[in-house]
Amino acid sequence: MNKTLKEYVTDIPDFPKEGILFHDITSVIQSSEGLKLAVEGLLESVKELEFDSIAGIETRGFIFGAILAERLGKGLVLVRKKGKLPRKTISESYALEYGTEKIEIHIDAVKPGEKVLIVDDLIATGGTVKAAANLIERLGGEVAGAVFLIELVGLNGREKLKNYPVRSVITYEGK
Ligand code: AMP
Repeated sequence: MNKTLKEYVTDIPDFPKEGILFHDITSVIQSSEGLKLAVEGLLESVKELEFDSIAGIETRGFIFGAILAERLGKGLVLVRKKGKLPRKTISESYALEYGTEKIEIHIDAVKPGEKVLIVDDLIATGGTVKAAANLIERLGGEVAGAVFLIELVGLNGREKLKNYPVRSVITYEGK
């Protein structure tokens, strides 16, 4: 029997620190069948959403964002960790368990009124994607939705995105 998409994800206890169950998608994308299932799942999840461009969140959101953008004939915007983008940027800080993280976007990456779909591999608390949504809106763009390969339902990240359509391909009930 063929493996399901979830069976291609490797679950690693206590990574990067104790108490975290890390859902590793490298085992999905290193298999041609796993990658195909992931892309098909994402395409199916967004088929009713209307958008002009895709924003991928560093790093794993770039992989799926780039494939979706090319398959759907859209451009790809990069939302990157602080200090990586070479031109003028705006940034947003968001809370991590310890301390804060900063992400940035080029100021010309989104035009006023542009509808942007955000893509990442996984939604946990939703802090990262909410910061990305804020960046898009500060540039005058509209967040057309957010799509994830994996959703950790127990962390209720959707709550932070309740103004937008949120789609995920596979879910884990726990944290
Ligand atoms: P959050 O801001 O809490 O929604 O975290 C989302 C970001 O952290 C995504 O870019 C994920 O790749 C990564 N992440 C958070 N928790 C996990 C986890 N349990 N397994 C794999 N990646 C995770």
